[in-house]
Amino acid sequence: MDSFYDRVLILEDDVVSDDALKRNVLAQNIDRVDVINSGLTAIQRLNDEPHPGVIFCDLKLDDMDGLQFVRFLAETGYDGDLVFVSSVDERVLSIVKQLARSLGFNVLGSIKKPVTPNQIVRLLMERPVNEDRHLPRSIVSLSAGEIITGMRNDALLPYYQPKVDVKSNRVVGFESLARWRFRGSEQILSPAAFIPAAEKLGLIDELTIHFLRHVLKDVGALRQVAPDASVAVNFSVDTLVQRDLPEMLLDMLNEFRVEPGAIVIEVTESKLASDKVNVLEVLARLHLAGFKLSIDDFGTGYSSLYRLKNTPFVELKLDRSFVRDAITDRSAQAVIRSSMRLAQELDMAVIAEGVETAEEKSLMQSMGCEVMQGYFFSHPKSLGDTINAVQANQYVQPESRRIDGARA
Ligand code: C2E
Ligand code: CA
Ligand code: CA
Repeated sequence: MDSFYDRVLILEDDVVSDDALKRNVLAQNIDRVDVINSGLTAIQRLNDEPHPGVIFCDLKLDDMDGLQFVRFLAETGYDGDLVFVSSVDERVLSIVKQLARSLGFNVLGSIKKPVTPNQIVRLLMERPVNEDRHLPRSIVSLSAGEIITGMRNDALLPYYQPKVDVKSNRVVGFESLARWRFRGSEQILSPAAFIPAAEKLGLIDELTIHFLRHVLKDVGALRQVAPDASVAVNFSVDTLVQRDLPEMLLDMLNEFRVEPGAIVIEVTESKLASDKVNVLEVLARLHLAGFKLSIDDFGTGYSSLYRLKNTPFVELKLDRSFVRDAITDRSAQAVIRSSMRLAQELDMAVIAEGVETAEEKSLMQSMGCEVMQGYFFSHPKSLGDTINAVQANQYVQPESRRIDGARA
């Protein structure tokens, strides 16, 4: 299998491992590998030339450190992925990764020097976080006109991904994830192509309501195959500033005869920190109205524990980056353990997001996390495929399914 990337930039000032890196990268059928020793030269090159798909970045360069480089990268509008190469302390590495992620970069992982071929192969064969393998990497961004006409023409559709309780082997919920049927074609776009655009263009409220109607229509069918399962919907913080949101949602639920307790509203942690005036009030009122509130991508922002204590969240979703790093990185494990403790104290359920392998599943389970979501159990699927998979019991026995040779 060839790598997902065709161009790689290696930013390294230690010539020995720089050579080893280049040899190993070229062995992955990558068309072009550039090696640069200075951060400033790299930034200049990014300003002048097409961007590589991934940058391997040493945390200690002659002219700057990794944190500075990541900030510069954000300014150049770099839209590729990152891998950090270092011999420094794990905690520094975690800080840099977290900074990069909070700036919106997809960090594939990190490599400890001396670099080995296996580490490179593993990272280059990975897919970017938060992107469904079936979808093209989204560089498309829909225009206002496209979003408005698309909504009228039913371009927007929900996919569903199960939340599985690995102890009882039951599907306890589904997360709805928005998809877009591109210009009536077979091509399905991921949210990256239209959610940020809708947010920027002031169309996100309309899109969310429109999407929610689709989801509410599906709730009955989903709960028929998984009784009592909750159905989660993602809300942008922009939508949560509307004070009449709870009443509006209750009216809609009424129309579809869905109880608010069946609906989970997921809100991204890092966006909450922006402290929009009405958000906490609206969240509290949604809670009072009976909706379940879930804090998404937990760990990627900087929630103060004190703030969390005062918000009515009943569920905490541990970000995929911790699940992914936990296998090799003890500080990621420490974050998971302390989040689990915090959740317990605050009476919140914890869900591990983005569980992709049996190894990740076992590790999360050993740390006390019992509800999980991720490609290991299933990719997000259309309503029909989701229902068929639940009926065939596919989600709860993924290991045996793998042995049969079937794929999610
Ligand atoms: P999210 O809420 O964190 O959703 C989880 C994302 O991780 C989904 O990406 C899902 O397909 C992906 N995922 C699930 N399991 C795995 C796994 O094992 N490995 C990896 N690498 N990824 C996995 P998707 O569907 O592309 O959605 C991306 C983001 O777009 C969502 O992140 C959410 O923030 C946003 N989004 C999706 N639907 C909506 C929506 O209706 N409204 C709003 N406001 N945002 C939405
Ligand atoms: Ca979510
Ligand atoms: Ca998430």
